[in-house]
This record gives sequence, structure tokens and C-alpha cells, in this order.
Amino acid sequence: MSKNIRIISSLNEMNEFSNELKRGSKKIAFVPTMGALHEGHLSLVSRANQIADHTVVSIFVNPMQFGQNEDFGNYTRDLEGDTDKLSSYKVDAVFLPDSKDIYPENFQTYLEVTEIQKELCGKSRPGHFRGVATVVLKLFNIVQPDYAVFGQKDFQQLKVIERFVKDLHLGVEIIPMPIVREEDGLALSSRNAYLSEEERARALSLSKALYAISQRFRDGCKDAGLLVEEGMNILNNSDVNDIDYLEIRDSQNLELIKTAQSGNLVAVAAKIGNTRLIDNIIL
Ligand code: AMP
Repeated sequence: MSKNIRIISSLNEMNEFSNELKRGSKKIAFVPTMGALHEGHLSLVSRANQIADHTVVSIFVNPMQFGQNEDFGNYTRDLEGDTDKLSSYKVDAVFLPDSKDIYPENFQTYLEVTEIQKELCGKSRPGHFRGVATVVLKLFNIVQPDYAVFGQKDFQQLKVIERFVKDLHLGVEIIPMPIVREEDGLALSSRNAYLSEEERARALSLSKALYAISQRFRDGCKDAGLLVEEGMNILNNSDVNDIDYLEIRDSQNLELIKTAQSGNLVAVAAKIGNTRLIDNIIL
């Protein structure tokens, strides 16, 4: 294990360490993750290093945001690999809480962002965003960051978090970061590791569909129905059959739109084999 990174599992110790770090008006930037780190996560850590005096990264595979038949049990856990990757950055602490401390016996308090959580992934993953919002609020309370850095890869998650930070008057500034992709366009994801070679080739059609829609929009087509059809053809022609959604929505309130405009969100979710992947692009 990497020698110079401080790993903290105790909630109290993390809270006290944050208080120490913040002494003398020093700022903390926080990067919450579920581990299995890749360049997408590391771009957030790099940003955190730029904007604050101190960086805290959490690794917690949050059981509450996984559904019954989802991959919680199989989700990649690689603490040694993760701390190795983080050792190239300035990371003051890796917060590695234990599930039984985060959700002690008799735990019964949840955070819901009632409108934004309903759409897109919220439809096929009931309870997912409630789990995300609840754990992120808890992590914010423990780590007390000045900034928290999130990827636009999980666009709806970002909107859920921005909303509750505003609604609850939290004193943390949310910093969004662009999606990091492989050279061929595939969005980096911890779940890409599950894909066989054949599945990876099919997975590539998600970003291809988004790029094709974006190109058609730039060519002058504003009809959301036609734009989506363009993307659907690419998915269908690549044997991506298990499509959860491919939609164009307002990027703030996530409402469906009929006439596309610059700044709209095009979001896709599909299952490739057993692996559910998401991706998006802003027009
Ligand atoms: P996860 O470990 O999947 O919960 O992700 C932790 C953070 O990394 C979230 O803010 C994600 O949006 C972000 N993230 C994941 N994949 C990417 C990516 N390809 N590019 C940028 N950020 C990402």
C-alpha cells in the first residue's frame, strides 16, 4: 500500500482531521468516489488540488444507492490500486468509512430531491438518488469541505447534489468537471472493467450516438424527436437492444424538451450484457 497517504476510517477522526486542516482559514476540496479509480476520478482530484489548500478523497461503495438486483456485491474494490493512483496527487486523507458506521442500527433518516430524482435513471433505479443524496450529505457533514468536485458523467447525480446544497443552504461549493473519455470516445467508468471485448465494441455506440446527435444539431436539426431517432438508429445498428433511455432534456430541471437548443442535455443509459452504462453530452 502506498506509504504516504493517510487513510482514515473513523468518522470522528475524519471530522477532527478536517477541523485541523481548516485551521488558519485553509480550504478543503472533497472528491467522493466509490473507488476503482480511473482517469475520470483523477481529473477531479487534480482539480481539487488546484482549487483548495487540502484535498480529501472518500472511497465508499454505498449500499443504499444500489437496487436489489444491482452490482453492489460485485462492484470492484481495489484499495491498494486506488491509493497507488492517488499517491501521484496531493491527497491529505483518503476517507474510507465503514458501512456500519455510516448506517448504524436504527438509521432512518433520508434525503430526497423530489423532482430531479424522478427522471432518467430515477425511473429504472428507484431509491438510487435517495441513496446518493443521503450519503453525500452525510459525507459533507463529516468532511466539512469548502468545495466538492463531481463529474458530469453522472449528470443527474450532479443536479441532485446541486439542488440539495441550494435547498438546504449548505456552505459547500459544487465544482462540476467534464467527462473524461477513452481516445475512441467511450466514457471512462469503473463498470467498463466488466465488459468483454465484444461488449466494449458495442458500448462504444453510446458515445457515437451522442456525437451523431450533436453533429446533426450543429447541422441545423432542432427537432428533438428526429435527433433522438438518429441516435437510436446507431444504437440499434450496433445491437444495443436493452436501451433504458436516450433523451434530450433541459440541463437544469431535466424536463423533456421538443425543440433542442444549445445547452440541452442528451443523455443515454443502456445495458450492454449485464453492465448498465450511462453517458451524456451537452449540445
Ligand atoms: P463513482 O466512483 O462512479 O461514484 O464516481 C465518483 C465521481 O467520479 C463522480 O463525481 C463521477 O461523476 C466522477 N466520474 C466518474 N467517471 C467519470 C468520467 N469518465 N469523467 C469525469 N468524472 C467521472
